[in-house]
Order: sequence, then C-alpha cells, then structure tokens
Amino acid sequence: MSAKARGGASRAWSRLWGLVRPSRPDDHPNASGRLGEYAAHQRQFGAAAAEREFPDVAEHLARGCALCSADLQATLALLASDV
Ligand SMILES: [Zn+2]
Repeated sequence: MSAKARGGASRAWSRLWGLVRPSRPDDHPNASGRLGEYAAHQRQFGAAAAEREFPDVAEHLARGCALCSADLQATLALLASDV
C-alpha cells in the first residue's frame, strides 16, 4: 500500500469514527453524573456556590460546551418542576 493510500485509509477511518463514536465522550461531566450534582447544588445554593463546589464542571461549561449547557438547563428545569 502506498503512503498516499495509507493516508486515505487513515482519513476514512477518522471519518468513520466521527460518525459512530459516542456523542458524549468521557470528558463531559455528565458522563460521571457530576453535571446533575452541579445542577442540584446550583438550585439549592446558587450559581456561585456550585462553581466553587464543582470547579471542573464550571470550567467545562465556561468553555462553551453546548451539549452540557443544554443538559444543565434541562436538568434545572426538571428540578424546578413539581415532578
Ligand atoms: Zn460537555
């Protein structure tokens, strides 16, 4: 196999992985449930307290992760409802 063919195969594998990999990699705090804990803490004690208690989650959210931001809003809405 030529170097050019190997590069093409590598790109094809990368594209395939991009299509089939889990949508939420392990580096998202929700993978470990910490986003839910963050939301509960925020609801009970306020945003500043949640940021102090879960600095890793706060930093992740500050980086602008749309997935976790949406999950946080949904979790806060759920916590605010009378379910
Ligand atoms: Zn995230």
